Amino acid sequence: MPAEAVVTWSPSVTLVPTRGCFNRCGYCSFRVSPALAVPLTAEEALRQLRKRPAAAEVLLLSGEEAPGSAGRAAWFSRLLQLSQLALDQGRLPHTNAGPLSCQEMARLGRSNPSMGLMLEGLGPAYEPLHARAPSKRLEVRLAQLEQAGRLGIPFTTGLLLGVGESRAERIRALELLRDLQLRWGHLQEVILQPWRPDGDSAVVLSESEQGDLLELIADARSLLPQEVHLQTPPNLWPLASLPSALAAGIDDLGGIDLEDVINPAYPQPAISQLRAVLEASGWQLKPRTCTHQHWWRRLPPALRERVERIDETLQQRWTTAAC
Ligand code: SF4
Repeated sequence: MPAEAVVTWSPSVTLVPTRGCFNRCGYCSFRVSPALAVPLTAEEALRQLRKRPAAAEVLLLSGEEAPGSAGRAAWFSRLLQLSQLALDQGRLPHTNAGPLSCQEMARLGRSNPSMGLMLEGLGPAYEPLHARAPSKRLEVRLAQLEQAGRLGIPFTTGLLLGVGESRAERIRALELLRDLQLRWGHLQEVILQPWRPDGDSAVVLSESEQGDLLELIADARSLLPQEVHLQTPPNLWPLASLPSALAAGIDDLGGIDLEDVINPAYPQPAISQLRAVLEASGWQLKPRTCTHQHWWRRLPPALRERVERIDETLQQRWTTAAC
């Protein structure tokens, strides 16, 4: 265990600008056909924000509109509007909406102090899953991560684990992320996300699945530069064994909302419960904004000032247990 055993989390609320998506990933139960999608209105977004007054992060998690399509401009404009709405409400937007053009990413980067895009993974196991998902091609994902680096945007990425990929393929994916970080220094966190089956109820990670993931977490910790945080979603681990994931190298639990829109069958633990389990194992749980402190210096001055102000409020609320 490190000398200062701190694990961070971000009080978060997820807004879904649209579930309409032109990709068809083999494992996705989030997507709806673009023809049936109902875009999120500003009124509905405000209603959802009001339900989570202490959430500093607004995760904008969107289905994707094909680049160059007739609907792309309206889709992108909704992302900008919702980002502004989040700022107007004293929150911080963090957009994860698939690949963006350089101009789109730069524009969103003025209001989003961090953004994200999963690398997901590589190898033959992914091929059938991504056969009808053009934006999931490895070269497209890597180009996005490279673009975010060139633009200096603090960025979150990650791997989806357990779809049949080999250890060598996982290591190769981590090496690609390491190389990106060494080139640009913008990767603030890498999510190590266990793939979990959909359904009406959660399928808990077995002991052998946990053992496999613990090995991967240790690999990631030794391969990635120390400043890159390693994250796992706490609702996808049995709570009692979460301390083993932290001992292996996880130091962040990501944005935690009341539910998980991607894995609705996997309820988020209550923060009080999480705190009790972690403190019993010697870990101190601490809130953070969507942008880890090490990357604040990369932000435009006005955005940085906003992040610092919101972080101060977050820390005050935490010490008075109001998060
Ligand atoms: S890109 Fe995302 S929303 Fe679209 S089909 Fe794939 S997983 Fe689902």
